[in-house]
Amino acid sequence: MTSLAPRALTALSRPTLLAPTILNARGHAAAVDPPSGSSRRYLDGDVRHDWRRSEIQRIFDAPLMETIYRAATVHRMHQDASRIQLCTLMNIKTGGCTEDCKYCSQSSSYKTPTKASRLVDIEPVLEAARQAKANGSTRFCMGAAWRDLAGRKSGFEKILKMVKEVRAMNMEVCTTLGMLSPEQAQRLKEAGLSAYNHNLDTSREFYPEVITTRSYDERLSTIEAVRAAGISVCSGGILGLGEKDEDRVGLIHEVSRLSEHPESFPVNTLVPIEGTPLEKNDPVSVQTVLRTIATARIVLPKTIIRLAAGRHTFSETEQAMAFMAGANAIFTGETMLTTPCSGWDEDKAMLSRWGLRGQRSFEDKEDVSVSSVGADAAAGVTAAA
Ligand code: SF4
Repeated sequence: MTSLAPRALTALSRPTLLAPTILNARGHAAAVDPPSGSSRRYLDGDVRHDWRRSEIQRIFDAPLMETIYRAATVHRMHQDASRIQLCTLMNIKTGGCTEDCKYCSQSSSYKTPTKASRLVDIEPVLEAARQAKANGSTRFCMGAAWRDLAGRKSGFEKILKMVKEVRAMNMEVCTTLGMLSPEQAQRLKEAGLSAYNHNLDTSREFYPEVITTRSYDERLSTIEAVRAAGISVCSGGILGLGEKDEDRVGLIHEVSRLSEHPESFPVNTLVPIEGTPLEKNDPVSVQTVLRTIATARIVLPKTIIRLAAGRHTFSETEQAMAFMAGANAIFTGETMLTTPCSGWDEDKAMLSRWGLRGQRSFEDKEDVSVSSVGADAAAGVTAAA
């Protein structure tokens, strides 16, 4: 069966999310609590902003293979599941960050092997972007290790030029520069920025265990400024910080309630760094990663689910399971900020072995969703992201 075949599914064949007692024909754990006092009916693949945490927890806790099957089905309702977005991430300013994220080698709060450096010049960045494009990456992301852009006027101007030049290569351009004001977001938009990465990292409750120098709500304010400027939001989390399943669910719940789901949801796994408070954390299991990806795919049907840091620790078959569970983007290239990354040739060969292809820049974004049944509209189901 080709990846396009499931698009022919009728809405009536989709699992109904109505009540805990309703399961589909195969007994999938498709049941969710309807919002109390509501007669709304939901089908898998509907884009919703009223998810309850208990509903998401139920999906997360279901038998893993059933959750993956369900996620794979949802994936094919809105997206071409044979396409994987290849993204290359470059660190344009390393180390010396005043934030205290306990997992990060770039925080000045910890003594790590990472050495601080200044903002790089424009030309090496453009050369790296050309190389990424030549190797099949369609998105180029630039990361700077700092809290925000305060007092960085000339650095910001330089970054705006980088954004403009990379965008002129017909690549999607992303940056991650810490907190942004609405004005700074607007200037990035005018320079041609496609997406901005600002992770929530984990649940609201667990967050203070990981970062104390910037609040959860400050992160949400930056996400709001990015969205208001018309830039796509990339926001996800990190597994292996010491969080529990409820925190993984809490993170997905938080982004599901945003006024628009993020365009991209990175799922990172901790790469323990010597000198950081989390250097001795146990690795997160592949089953937890798959559960998180599959749950995110079901809850965020149109979002790009990005298998991000830590991917190199998983075997090819485990990565293929992640694609089956709904992941459809990877970082590829020589390094990923300060952690190892699989190379382009290695990744291209892997994708080819599994019948997957790279996504084209600015393409493959059209909605391929099946049409909703009339009953959805009558029941007031939210149909647009
Ligand atoms: S803000 Fe970014 S660069 Fe700074 S410590 Fe946190 S994760 Fe590291």
